[in-house]
Amino acid sequence: MNVERFSVPLSRPLSTAAGTVDERTGFLVWVTVDGAAGVGEATPLPGWTEPLDACETALRGVSNPVATLDDGTLAGAPAARHGVSLAVLDARARAADRPLYRHLGGDADREAVPVNATIGDADPGATAEAAVRAVDAGFPAVKLKVGARPLSADLDRLEAVRKRCPDVALRADANGAWTPATAERALEALVELDVAFVEQPLAAANLGGHAALAGGPVGVGLDEGVVEHGAEAVLKAGAADIVVCKPMALGGVDRARTAAVRARAAGCEAVVTTTIDAAVARAGAVHLAASLPDVPACGLATGGRLADDLWDDVATVADGVVPVPQGDGSLPPE
Ligand SMILES: [Mg+2]
Repeated sequence: MNVERFSVPLSRPLSTAAGTVDERTGFLVWVTVDGAAGVGEATPLPGWTEPLDACETALRGVSNPVATLDDGTLAGAPAARHGVSLAVLDARARAADRPLYRHLGGDADREAVPVNATIGDADPGATAEAAVRAVDAGFPAVKLKVGARPLSADLDRLEAVRKRCPDVALRADANGAWTPATAERALEALVELDVAFVEQPLAAANLGGHAALAGGPVGVGLDEGVVEHGAEAVLKAGAADIVVCKPMALGGVDRARTAAVRARAAGCEAVVTTTIDAAVARAGAVHLAASLPDVPACGLATGGRLADDLWDDVATVADGVVPVPQGDGSLPPE
Protein backbone atom coordinates (compact mmCIF):
# COMPACT_ATOMS: atom_id res chain seq x y z
CA MET A 1 0.00 0.00 0.00
CA ASN A 2 1.35 3.41 -0.94
CA VAL A 3 0.45 6.57 0.97
CA GLU A 4 1.04 9.98 -0.58
CA ARG A 5 0.39 13.24 1.23
CA PHE A 6 -1.37 16.09 -0.60
CA SER A 7 -2.65 19.60 0.07
CA VAL A 8 -5.19 21.44 -2.05
CA PRO A 9 -6.07 25.11 -1.48
CA LEU A 10 -9.61 26.14 -0.59
CA SER A 11 -11.31 28.85 -2.61
CA ARG A 12 -12.39 30.46 0.66
CA PRO A 13 -11.49 29.67 4.27
CA LEU A 14 -13.40 26.92 6.09
CA SER A 15 -14.11 27.17 9.80
CA THR A 16 -13.54 23.92 11.71
CA ALA A 17 -13.48 22.78 15.32
CA ALA A 18 -9.75 23.53 15.32
CA GLY A 19 -10.04 27.01 13.79
CA THR A 20 -10.11 28.28 10.25
CA VAL A 21 -8.25 26.38 7.54
CA ASP A 22 -7.37 27.56 4.03
CA GLU A 23 -6.34 24.24 2.56
CA ARG A 24 -7.38 20.59 2.78
CA THR A 25 -4.54 18.23 3.57
CA GLY A 26 -4.83 14.48 3.40
CA PHE A 27 -3.46 11.31 1.85
CA LEU A 28 -3.97 9.39 -1.34
CA VAL A 29 -3.91 5.65 -0.69
CA TRP A 30 -2.91 3.23 -3.45
CA VAL A 31 -3.51 -0.50 -3.19
CA THR A 32 -3.39 -3.57 -5.40
CA VAL A 33 -6.01 -6.21 -4.65
CA ASP A 34 -6.21 -9.44 -6.65
CA GLY A 35 -4.08 -7.83 -9.37
CA ALA A 36 -6.23 -4.67 -9.72
CA ALA A 37 -5.06 -1.22 -8.64
CA GLY A 38 -7.28 1.08 -6.61
CA VAL A 39 -7.03 4.56 -5.12
CA GLY A 40 -8.64 6.07 -2.05
CA GLU A 41 -8.45 9.35 -0.14
CA ALA A 42 -8.10 10.05 3.56
CA THR A 43 -8.71 13.73 4.31
CA PRO A 44 -9.25 14.35 8.02
CA LEU A 45 -11.36 17.28 9.21
CA PRO A 46 -11.03 18.48 12.81
CA GLY A 47 -14.24 17.95 14.75
CA TRP A 48 -15.36 15.16 12.42
CA THR A 49 -12.42 12.73 12.21
CA GLU A 50 -9.05 11.98 13.76
CA PRO A 51 -6.38 14.69 13.38
CA LEU A 52 -3.96 14.67 10.44
CA ASP A 53 -1.04 13.17 12.43
CA ALA A 54 -3.16 10.33 13.79
CA CYS A 55 -4.49 9.65 10.29
CA GLU A 56 -0.97 9.41 8.89
CA THR A 57 0.21 7.16 11.72
CA ALA A 58 -2.77 4.87 11.19
CA LEU A 59 -2.19 4.68 7.43
CA ARG A 60 1.55 4.04 7.74
CA GLY A 61 0.80 1.16 10.10
CA VAL A 62 -1.32 -0.74 7.58
CA SER A 63 0.39 -3.83 6.18
CA ASN A 64 -2.63 -5.70 4.80
CA PRO A 65 -5.22 -3.24 3.45
CA VAL A 66 -8.02 -5.80 3.14
CA ALA A 67 -7.57 -7.38 6.57
CA THR A 68 -7.21 -4.03 8.30
CA LEU A 69 -10.74 -2.96 7.34
CA ASP A 70 -12.32 -5.36 9.80
CA ASP A 71 -9.69 -6.13 12.40
CA GLY A 72 -10.27 -2.99 14.49
CA THR A 73 -6.83 -1.47 13.95
CA LEU A 74 -8.38 1.60 12.27
CA ALA A 75 -11.02 2.11 14.95
CA GLY A 76 -10.79 5.75 16.00
CA ALA A 77 -9.31 6.73 12.63
CA PRO A 78 -12.36 7.06 10.34
CA ALA A 79 -10.56 9.13 7.69
CA ALA A 80 -7.76 6.55 7.47
CA ARG A 81 -10.28 3.72 7.18
CA HIS A 82 -12.13 5.74 4.53
CA GLY A 83 -8.95 6.01 2.47
CA VAL A 84 -8.05 2.33 2.68
CA SER A 85 -11.59 1.05 2.16
CA LEU A 86 -12.21 3.30 -0.85
CA ALA A 87 -8.95 2.10 -2.44
CA VAL A 88 -9.95 -1.54 -1.87
CA LEU A 89 -13.49 -0.95 -3.20
CA ASP A 90 -12.12 0.88 -6.24
CA ALA A 91 -9.74 -2.02 -6.99
CA ARG A 92 -12.51 -4.58 -6.60
CA ALA A 93 -14.93 -2.63 -8.80
CA ARG A 94 -12.22 -2.33 -11.46
CA ALA A 95 -11.51 -6.07 -11.24
CA ALA A 96 -15.24 -6.68 -11.72
CA ASP A 97 -15.34 -4.24 -14.71
CA ARG A 98 -18.08 -2.09 -13.26
CA PRO A 99 -18.56 1.36 -11.81
CA LEU A 100 -18.23 1.60 -8.04
CA TYR A 101 -21.90 2.40 -7.44
CA ARG A 102 -22.95 -0.86 -9.09
CA HIS A 103 -20.28 -2.74 -7.12
CA LEU A 104 -21.67 -1.20 -3.91
CA GLY A 105 -25.09 -2.66 -4.64
CA GLY A 106 -26.76 -0.05 -6.84
CA ASP A 107 -29.32 -2.05 -8.78
CA ALA A 108 -29.83 0.26 -11.77
CA ASP A 109 -27.80 2.51 -14.03
CA ARG A 110 -27.71 6.00 -12.59
CA GLU A 111 -26.40 8.87 -14.69
CA ALA A 112 -26.65 11.64 -12.12
CA VAL A 113 -27.49 12.42 -8.51
CA PRO A 114 -29.44 15.54 -7.43
CA VAL A 115 -27.56 17.91 -5.15
CA ASN A 116 -28.40 20.80 -2.83
CA ALA A 117 -26.78 24.21 -2.65
CA THR A 118 -25.58 25.33 0.77
CA ILE A 119 -25.98 28.96 1.80
CA GLY A 120 -24.01 30.35 4.71
CA ASP A 121 -25.04 32.94 7.26
CA ALA A 122 -25.96 36.35 5.79
CA ASP A 123 -28.73 38.92 6.14
CA PRO A 124 -32.16 38.13 4.66
CA GLY A 125 -31.55 40.02 1.41
CA ALA A 126 -28.19 38.42 0.67
CA THR A 127 -29.48 35.01 1.73
CA ALA A 128 -32.46 35.27 -0.63
CA GLU A 129 -30.20 36.48 -3.46
CA ALA A 130 -27.94 33.45 -2.99
CA ALA A 131 -30.97 31.14 -3.01
CA VAL A 132 -32.31 32.71 -6.21
CA ARG A 133 -28.91 32.20 -7.85
CA ALA A 134 -28.94 28.54 -6.76
CA VAL A 135 -32.46 27.97 -8.10
CA ASP A 136 -31.53 29.72 -11.37
CA ALA A 137 -28.52 27.38 -11.61
CA GLY A 138 -30.89 24.40 -11.38
CA PHE A 139 -30.47 23.29 -7.77
CA PRO A 140 -33.63 21.48 -6.61
CA ALA A 141 -32.85 22.08 -2.92
CA VAL A 142 -31.12 24.74 -0.85
CA LYS A 143 -29.82 24.39 2.68
CA LEU A 144 -29.44 27.45 4.89
CA LYS A 145 -26.98 27.52 7.74
CA VAL A 146 -28.87 28.80 10.79
CA GLY A 147 -28.14 29.23 14.48
CA ALA A 148 -25.57 32.03 14.26
CA ARG A 149 -28.38 34.60 14.84
CA PRO A 150 -31.38 34.76 17.14
CA LEU A 151 -34.22 32.54 15.92
CA SER A 152 -36.35 35.51 14.82
CA ALA A 153 -33.54 36.68 12.52
CA ASP A 154 -33.11 33.20 11.03
CA LEU A 155 -36.86 32.98 10.46
CA ASP A 156 -36.66 36.29 8.56
CA ARG A 157 -33.94 34.77 6.37
CA LEU A 158 -35.94 31.61 5.67
CA GLU A 159 -39.06 33.64 4.94
CA ALA A 160 -37.13 35.85 2.50
CA VAL A 161 -35.92 32.75 0.66
CA ARG A 162 -39.38 31.18 0.58
CA LYS A 163 -40.88 34.38 -0.87
CA ARG A 164 -38.34 34.51 -3.70
CA CYS A 165 -38.15 30.73 -4.26
CA PRO A 166 -41.66 29.33 -3.74
CA ASP A 167 -40.94 25.88 -5.15
CA VAL A 168 -37.45 25.00 -3.94
CA ALA A 169 -36.97 22.23 -1.38
CA LEU A 170 -35.82 24.18 1.67
CA ARG A 171 -33.63 22.84 4.46
CA ALA A 172 -31.88 24.38 7.44
CA ASP A 173 -28.78 23.26 9.33
CA ALA A 174 -28.35 24.51 12.90
CA ASN A 175 -25.17 22.48 13.56
CA GLY A 176 -26.34 21.88 17.13
CA ALA A 177 -26.74 25.56 18.02
CA TRP A 178 -30.29 25.58 19.42
CA THR A 179 -31.65 24.83 22.86
CA PRO A 180 -34.59 22.40 23.03
CA ALA A 181 -37.00 25.32 23.62
CA THR A 182 -35.65 27.27 20.62
CA ALA A 183 -35.73 24.17 18.44
CA GLU A 184 -39.35 23.49 19.37
CA ARG A 185 -40.34 27.05 18.48
CA ALA A 186 -38.34 26.85 15.25
CA LEU A 187 -39.91 23.61 14.05
CA GLU A 188 -43.39 25.02 14.68
CA ALA A 189 -42.60 28.20 12.74
CA LEU A 190 -40.97 26.32 9.87
CA VAL A 191 -44.13 24.35 9.02
CA GLU A 192 -45.61 27.46 7.45
CA LEU A 193 -42.47 28.04 5.36
CA ASP A 194 -42.63 24.44 4.12
CA VAL A 195 -39.12 23.63 5.33
CA ALA A 196 -38.46 19.95 4.63
CA PHE A 197 -36.10 19.32 7.51
CA VAL A 198 -33.71 20.87 10.00
CA GLU A 199 -30.31 19.28 10.39
CA GLN A 200 -28.89 18.89 13.88
CA PRO A 201 -31.13 21.35 15.75
CA LEU A 202 -29.62 20.36 19.13
CA ALA A 203 -26.18 19.40 20.37
CA ALA A 204 -24.97 16.02 19.08
CA ALA A 205 -25.01 14.48 22.55
CA ASN A 206 -28.75 15.07 23.00
CA LEU A 207 -30.34 12.02 21.39
CA GLY A 208 -33.38 12.16 23.67
CA GLY A 209 -34.02 15.78 22.78
CA HIS A 210 -33.92 14.97 19.09
CA ALA A 211 -36.25 12.01 19.62
CA ALA A 212 -38.77 14.43 21.18
CA LEU A 213 -38.57 16.69 18.09
CA ALA A 214 -38.59 14.00 15.37
CA GLY A 215 -41.62 12.69 13.56
CA GLY A 216 -43.33 16.03 12.96
CA PRO A 217 -44.21 17.88 9.76
CA VAL A 218 -40.71 19.41 9.63
CA GLY A 219 -38.22 16.56 9.71
CA VAL A 220 -35.22 16.27 12.01
CA GLY A 221 -31.91 15.36 10.38
CA LEU A 222 -28.95 14.14 12.37
CA ASP A 223 -25.41 14.71 11.11
CA GLU A 224 -22.97 15.34 13.98
CA GLY A 225 -25.20 13.02 16.07
CA VAL A 226 -24.71 10.14 13.63
CA VAL A 227 -20.94 10.54 13.83
CA GLU A 228 -21.02 10.74 17.63
CA HIS A 229 -23.44 7.89 18.37
CA GLY A 230 -23.51 5.82 15.17
CA ALA A 231 -26.56 5.34 12.97
CA GLU A 232 -27.70 2.28 14.89
CA ALA A 233 -28.09 4.19 18.17
CA VAL A 234 -29.73 7.14 16.42
CA LEU A 235 -32.32 4.87 14.81
CA LYS A 236 -32.90 2.90 18.00
CA ALA A 237 -33.60 6.15 19.85
CA GLY A 238 -35.97 7.36 17.11
CA ALA A 239 -33.89 10.54 17.09
CA ALA A 240 -33.99 11.32 13.36
CA ASP A 241 -36.23 11.43 10.32
CA ILE A 242 -33.22 11.96 8.07
CA VAL A 243 -29.80 10.40 8.58
CA VAL A 244 -26.92 12.39 7.08
CA CYS A 245 -24.16 10.08 5.91
CA LYS A 246 -20.66 11.56 5.65
CA PRO A 247 -18.38 8.78 4.38
CA MET A 248 -15.14 10.41 5.64
CA ALA A 249 -16.52 10.82 9.17
CA LEU A 250 -18.21 7.41 9.32
CA GLY A 251 -15.10 5.44 8.35
CA GLY A 252 -15.76 4.78 4.68
CA VAL A 253 -18.21 4.59 1.82
CA ASP A 254 -19.06 1.01 2.83
CA ARG A 255 -19.92 1.96 6.42
CA ALA A 256 -21.84 5.05 5.31
CA ARG A 257 -23.84 2.87 2.92
CA THR A 258 -24.68 0.45 5.73
CA ALA A 259 -25.94 3.42 7.77
CA ALA A 260 -28.01 4.71 4.85
CA VAL A 261 -29.55 1.33 4.10
CA ARG A 262 -30.44 0.75 7.76
CA ALA A 263 -31.93 4.23 8.01
CA ARG A 264 -34.17 3.53 5.05
CA ALA A 265 -35.19 0.15 6.43
CA ALA A 266 -36.21 1.98 9.62
CA GLY A 267 -38.43 4.36 7.63
CA CYS A 268 -36.00 7.29 7.63
CA GLU A 269 -34.46 9.08 4.69
CA ALA A 270 -30.72 9.16 4.04
CA VAL A 271 -28.66 11.90 2.39
CA VAL A 272 -24.97 11.75 1.52
CA THR A 273 -22.67 14.71 2.10
CA THR A 274 -18.94 15.34 1.90
CA THR A 275 -16.63 16.89 4.47
CA ILE A 276 -15.24 19.28 1.79
CA ASP A 277 -13.10 16.48 0.44
CA ALA A 278 -10.86 16.38 -2.63
CA ALA A 279 -11.86 14.71 -5.90
CA VAL A 280 -11.17 11.07 -5.05
CA ALA A 281 -13.31 11.08 -1.90
CA ARG A 282 -16.00 13.19 -3.62
CA ALA A 283 -16.20 10.56 -6.35
CA GLY A 284 -16.64 7.90 -3.66
CA ALA A 285 -19.48 9.89 -2.07
CA VAL A 286 -21.15 10.34 -5.47
CA HIS A 287 -21.02 6.57 -6.04
CA LEU A 288 -22.50 5.96 -2.60
CA ALA A 289 -25.41 8.32 -3.37
CA ALA A 290 -25.84 6.74 -6.82
CA SER A 291 -26.11 3.30 -5.21
CA LEU A 292 -29.20 4.40 -3.23
CA PRO A 293 -32.45 4.34 -5.25
CA ASP A 294 -34.33 7.66 -5.35
CA VAL A 295 -31.83 9.41 -3.12
CA PRO A 296 -32.94 12.98 -2.26
CA ALA A 297 -30.69 15.94 -3.08
CA CYS A 298 -27.32 15.34 -1.46
CA GLY A 299 -24.56 17.61 -0.17
CA LEU A 300 -22.11 16.75 -2.92
CA ALA A 301 -21.78 20.18 -4.56
CA THR A 302 -18.63 20.99 -2.62
CA GLY A 303 -15.96 20.80 -5.32
CA GLY A 304 -16.23 24.55 -5.80
CA ARG A 305 -14.84 25.01 -2.30
CA LEU A 306 -11.47 23.87 -3.64
CA ALA A 307 -9.29 26.24 -5.67
CA ASP A 308 -7.34 23.29 -7.07
CA ASP A 309 -7.98 19.56 -7.04
CA LEU A 310 -6.48 16.09 -7.41
CA TRP A 311 -8.40 15.04 -10.47
CA ASP A 312 -10.20 16.84 -13.29
CA ASP A 313 -13.96 16.83 -13.80
CA VAL A 314 -15.00 14.81 -10.78
CA ALA A 315 -18.40 15.58 -9.26
CA THR A 316 -18.74 18.79 -11.24
CA VAL A 317 -22.25 20.13 -10.73
CA ALA A 318 -24.45 21.29 -13.59
CA ASP A 319 -28.21 21.93 -13.53
CA GLY A 320 -28.48 20.80 -9.93
CA VAL A 321 -27.09 17.33 -10.49
CA VAL A 322 -23.69 15.72 -10.30
CA PRO A 323 -22.89 13.21 -13.05
CA VAL A 324 -21.94 9.70 -11.90
CA PRO A 325 -18.67 8.38 -13.40
CA GLN A 326 -19.56 5.33 -15.49
CA GLY A 327 -16.12 3.80 -16.06
CA ASP A 328 -14.76 0.86 -14.07
CA GLY A 329 -14.11 1.72 -10.43
CA SER A 330 -14.60 5.11 -8.89
CA LEU A 331 -12.93 7.80 -10.98
CA PRO A 332 -13.51 8.88 -14.57
CA PRO A 333 -10.56 8.07 -16.88
CA GLU A 334 -7.94 10.84 -16.74
MG1 LIG B 1 -24.76 19.32 8.79
